[in-house]
Amino acid sequence: MVVRIVETFAETRRAARDGAGTIGLVPTMGYLHEGHLSLISATADIADLVVVSLFVNPLQFDDGADLAAYPADLGRDAELAKAHGADVLFAPSVAEMYPEPPVTTVTVRDLTDRLEGAHRPGHFDGVATVVTKLLCGLRPDVASFGRKDAQQLAVVRRLVADLSIPVDIRGLPTVREADGLALSSRNVRLPADARADAVALSRGLFAAADAIEAGERAAAAIERIAEDEISRTPGIGIDYVALVSQDRFAPVDRLDRPAVLATAATVGGVRLIDNVHIDVVGDRFVVDRGRRLERRSVLYEEEPCC
Ligand code: AMP
Repeated sequence: MVVRIVETFAETRRAARDGAGTIGLVPTMGYLHEGHLSLISATADIADLVVVSLFVNPLQFDDGADLAAYPADLGRDAELAKAHGADVLFAPSVAEMYPEPPVTTVTVRDLTDRLEGAHRPGHFDGVATVVTKLLCGLRPDVASFGRKDAQQLAVVRRLVADLSIPVDIRGLPTVREADGLALSSRNVRLPADARADAVALSRGLFAAADAIEAGERAAAAIERIAEDEISRTPGIGIDYVALVSQDRFAPVDRLDRPAVLATAATVGGVRLIDNVHIDVVGDRFVVDRGRRLERRSVLYEEEPCC
């Protein structure tokens, strides 16, 4: 099937009904990189029809300049998404998503008080509202999100449970550059001299992951190992390094349940986030460090168009 670019909920649902079977949704803000593409491929493996939504959601930007600077290239996104198994691109206008300024929004309390929620007030209300609209408006059977945005994934899992939305939420591994830097649409904004420094985040997380795999369970020790490694690179401003539970994003003293070691730091004026998930498999803790690309990311093949 040729990828179809549609702008309305109604047309997307019609396109989805044309195909038989299960519908998979991959919500994105466009300007696709291999992180997004891995979500699309993994969803195509399990769903009969894959809808990729591309919408830069004004509700989740606390900074107008950040919103205005967001890169966009629908033609490029369509080619990449199609090559990775997408069938339909849902690219709504702001007017389609929000015909009127919404007076009904979704707030996930508690787990949004901390870390990214504390740093970006209102951000997760915007995320929760747009994800709820996408899930209710498109009614997918499965929706895929990246573990890269760990707190967002926890928020989405919680709202789906609390609101009894019948969808299977999948959290998929972080895709990284060959040197370990997690792919992010923000990476293109890194000044050339800061690009090498940005690897410090993953280096710190992996050093802590090594310690966990060697048996360290004390949160303070795990956090300190990551923090010490990250701060060995001068000029990095660490916002936080925190070991939190996977479901509530609450601080833990000891690693005794599924957890996330999350960090945020500013490098060359760009704020980056990264994490490793620590899963419980049987009676073992297994660290998910994500997957590294073998070659340079598509993000750097050309400059952002605007
Ligand atoms: P965004 O377009 O930034 O809103 O991201 C759309 C989806 O892609 C979210 O579920 C993100 O968590 C996911 N994503 C972003 N970066 C990565 C990455 N490096 N690896 C895997 N998934 C990612």
